[in-house]
Amino acid sequence: MLVYDENDLTVVRHDTDSSSRIDLGAAMRIVTGTISHETNVLSNIATDLEEFRNNRILYGDELFEAFDGTKTPAGGIIDGCKAHGFELIPTLFAAAVPSGTITAEAFDTLLTGILDGVRSASNIDAVVLHLHGAGVSELYPDIEGKILEDIRQLVGDIPLVTTLDFHVNFTDRMFDNADLLIGYDTYPHIDGYERGVEAVNLTARMLDGSLKPTKAMRQPPMLPALQAQFTGRYPMTKVLEEAHRMEAMPGVETITVAAGFPWSDIPEAGMSFVVTTNDNQQLADALADTLHDMVWNLRRDFLVNPTPVGEALRHVKAAEQTPIVLADIGDNPGAGGPEDGTMILEAILQEQLEGGVIAVIWDPGVVTQAVDAGDGQTVDIRLGGHTDDLHGAPLHVTARVKTLSDGTFTNEGPMGTGAQTDMGPTAVLEIGGNDVIVTSKRYQPLDLQLYKSLGIDLASKRFIVVKSSVHFRAAHEPIAAEIIELDAPGLSSPRLTGFGFKNIRRPIFPLDIEMLGITELKTLEQD
Ligand SMILES: [Zn+2]
Repeated sequence: MLVYDENDLTVVRHDTDSSSRIDLGAAMRIVTGTISHETNVLSNIATDLEEFRNNRILYGDELFEAFDGTKTPAGGIIDGCKAHGFELIPTLFAAAVPSGTITAEAFDTLLTGILDGVRSASNIDAVVLHLHGAGVSELYPDIEGKILEDIRQLVGDIPLVTTLDFHVNFTDRMFDNADLLIGYDTYPHIDGYERGVEAVNLTARMLDGSLKPTKAMRQPPMLPALQAQFTGRYPMTKVLEEAHRMEAMPGVETITVAAGFPWSDIPEAGMSFVVTTNDNQQLADALADTLHDMVWNLRRDFLVNPTPVGEALRHVKAAEQTPIVLADIGDNPGAGGPEDGTMILEAILQEQLEGGVIAVIWDPGVVTQAVDAGDGQTVDIRLGGHTDDLHGAPLHVTARVKTLSDGTFTNEGPMGTGAQTDMGPTAVLEIGGNDVIVTSKRYQPLDLQLYKSLGIDLASKRFIVVKSSVHFRAAHEPIAAEIIELDAPGLSSPRLTGFGFKNIRRPIFPLDIEMLGITELKTLEQD
């Protein structure tokens, strides 16, 4: 078993060195665009245009202002183009925080934005997109397939390449229409920039004729929970190591291990692999088969076992080494959780546990109340629990307004280093001896600037509750005395059998637990 090294989060699998510049004579013209959404079809937060505007919609050159110099996929595409002397033509960049199904109108408007941009950019040589891979709209269960198909129809036979999230659910429509599909290697996602650079490097090799992509896709019948997808821990470490070993073989260009996103609830949701070779279909097929079989044989190691909330809180009470990070993995906004769940906070108050930070609870109404009352004042609030009844009821409590902020900061990394975060007006409320961060926008706590920008000193804290499944680890592992994943109910809970998914292909493990095999089932029963 491999041991996770918190100091070595960075996985860079390819030569992303700009010295590999390819001289193609005339400057190539590359079009880019983004529609990025991870859709949790069970969320009742509608994903309309307003939801995208709330996060980010950029037109044309606004892309450079937002992402030039940042360690993001868009930043990587920008730098990759600079390195090769390519002209980059941005169309539209739209991203929303994970939420419910995208409305037909919103997707149509955004897709039209990209297609119009592609049409008006004359004499283009290639298209390099940044997509997520788990977007579902009212009309299209696979928005990325639709985007790639429509662009392919417009541009014809030129390189069409996209980067993708680690949570991509690959589909035939995506596979058939793109030349290269390049997903992140990391969860927490800290290699988006490298994948952007890689996408441009491989595009350059297609343009100079030295790369003729041949690719193979495999989808084992596996639907791993988010905790099992963490790439800093076995079994994912083992799978990624094998993929990287294969990528070093002659003729292999790029391999994506995609852990998939269950809550898209489409037939293709779950784990998949795309192996891309240079003009060698046989090799691509053979390697994809090997990865498929390897993961299937490891399937029992993908089962997860989070800690009961009460047990974790008692442990915190007795612990000497602090701060302890408690991951509320059931209410992760990065997977479509509402982030206004109150169950963990309620349990903390009942346990009379003090000296903690809650990051964060989404409640714009309570922020307004705090702003109206002012710094240092006391407010009577009904906090959270507004979105659904899966994550706890509104908490009726008295709170002291400790800090007010506009909720913006620049990420210090390692995720999205240099990019701007905007949580909207934000308040730190003191409730039962704990600092509760209440925001106006949903934000997954993945950067320590969250606390620094609000004057919260984590070193003096007993515990930190983060509403996050895995991403929090990138920034929090170095400062945490210990990390405990809470067995909390909710929309991003690892208990996948309870969601009643309708469209995911069956049988699939672990929804159909009997696929474990008779011997393993007996062992589990004994546990
Ligand atoms: Zn992701």
